[in-house]
Amino acid sequence: MRRLGQILDQIHDRIHEEADWGLPAQYIPELASVDREQFAISAVTPDGQCHSAGLAQRPFSIQSISKVFALTATLGRIGDALWTRVGREPTKVAFDSIMLLETDHGRPSNPFVNAGAIVTTDALLAGREPRQALAEILGLVRTMAGTDDIYINDRVAQSEKRTAERNKALAHYLASHGNLVNDPDLTLGTYFHQCAIEMTTEQLAMSGRVLADLKCAPPTISRAHARRTNALMLTCGHYDASGEFAFKVGLPGKSGVGGGILLIAPRKASIGIWSPGLNGYGNSEAGTRAAAMLADMTGWSVF
Ligand code: GLU
Repeated sequence: MRRLGQILDQIHDRIHEEADWGLPAQYIPELASVDREQFAISAVTPDGQCHSAGLAQRPFSIQSISKVFALTATLGRIGDALWTRVGREPTKVAFDSIMLLETDHGRPSNPFVNAGAIVTTDALLAGREPRQALAEILGLVRTMAGTDDIYINDRVAQSEKRTAERNKALAHYLASHGNLVNDPDLTLGTYFHQCAIEMTTEQLAMSGRVLADLKCAPPTISRAHARRTNALMLTCGHYDASGEFAFKVGLPGKSGVGGGILLIAPRKASIGIWSPGLNGYGNSEAGTRAAAMLADMTGWSVF
């Protein structure tokens, strides 16, 4: 294998040559205006070294990648009790779809589609103030990434809140089935703020070390939880394009509509990728291609 730094540089150059960027998320006004011609990739290896190419120190909105951290915090707090309220199956419908909730009697398919993430956040919030649940998620992200320099962008959270008819519909539908224990507005407010956490690809790569079982990782979650989170990332982390992502990349990954991807190569590397333009599934257009290039060039795969 060529040196990792050279591989990342090559991927960066190819992404810019191809100039196929997709469109930033249009339904969150604060994200819609982000310049789409941006790209960054970072990878941390078991010796703790972080290699990067592109805009690896530019913070971006992690959006649904926060669902990995919220899930980790919630499993730490209530353990397997979460699974009575949320399933573990992939879906063939869009990330914000309400369709399956009706046939499944208000139990979302998995914790990475919006409905499942809203229930997960609701479970974390139970009996507490939103700021306490948010402090727990943010504290976990900072510990996992090994830095306190990670913040919530309130403008992005407010921007999403103003245009959140879809997520409001999901939350109220969940409540109608008794699958929210808090006021839907409180749960949604917490969810929008967790989605508005901003990180750089360097920080994102650092935060995935424990999931990748790297020697340099802080012991923030058990091996059993990390294994299960990886399984969910592989099967559900890219919504209704998760099968395609597993086919082309072969590694657990979680995308967000801010254009980020957290990618895990077990015992080899933890990787953060960002490019804000999306494909039709709400996953980063250039980021998804970069993940496939990395898997090809390194031979990293869980298979
Ligand atoms: N905050 C976004 C939403 O709920 C997250 C979706 C995503 O990143 O895929 O629509």
